[in-house]
Amino acid sequence: MPTRAPSMHGRHLADLTSSALDGLRPAGPIGLWPVGAVEPHGPHAPLGTDTLISTGICDRAAARLPELPIVVLPALPFGVTRCGSAFAGAVGITPETLRATVLDVAASLAEQGFRRLVIVNNHFEPEQVATLRDAASEAGVLYLDLVRRVNAERLTDEFRRGSCHAGRYETSLVLADRPGLIDEASRKRLRSVEVDMPAELAAGRTDFVAMGMDDAYCGAPAEATAAEGRATFEILTDMLVRLVREEA
Ligand SMILES: [Zn+2]
Repeated sequence: MPTRAPSMHGRHLADLTSSALDGLRPAGPIGLWPVGAVEPHGPHAPLGTDTLISTGICDRAAARLPELPIVVLPALPFGVTRCGSAFAGAVGITPETLRATVLDVAASLAEQGFRRLVIVNNHFEPEQVATLRDAASEAGVLYLDLVRRVNAERLTDEFRRGSCHAGRYETSLVLADRPGLIDEASRKRLRSVEVDMPAELAAGRTDFVAMGMDDAYCGAPAEATAAEGRATFEILTDMLVRLVREEA
């Protein structure tokens, strides 16, 4: 007997055949687009942490919306990443490239019959967020804005304090979905580093070292747990599901 198809079967654009997508087009597919960055996340977490989180949210939302023609797009793994450039692994694109990519992909999806596109981003460097907000509005697509107060206040204390780069918040999310990617021996040794990133950025300090993040992280990665990550994923997924139901 064939095994039962997993709930995500047929939900990833890159996995579909042309005829399978054609079959979805009369319903007006809704694209969910995970967006992240390649940048240092402390000595313990993967460079692609932000992309991994965005993908986890989109996959969960797609599974929770079986009644809608949801299609998860291939993730955009590169973002505007300058804060971490003193460390190995900050591989980024310019705001102009990011904007052009969003506009081009949005136009192409519309031509292909998609009724809506929702950008799901978890790289919160100010240039990244500003570029995505502007490009989304220019392209007429939705942007799940996790740093907006109404969303941020539902997230963990560390996230709300803004001391959350590769700390307890993000590391928990990676532990929930890809525990094998966390260097556990390093993680457990890391002391907590309190940095108010929004305040540092507002004061004009735009690189991790100047902000006091000598190891490219802040927050408390040693306190991270998979259970917290799963709980946070549920909250993040709720936000996306609600946005899709209300506006897509
Ligand atoms: Zn991150």
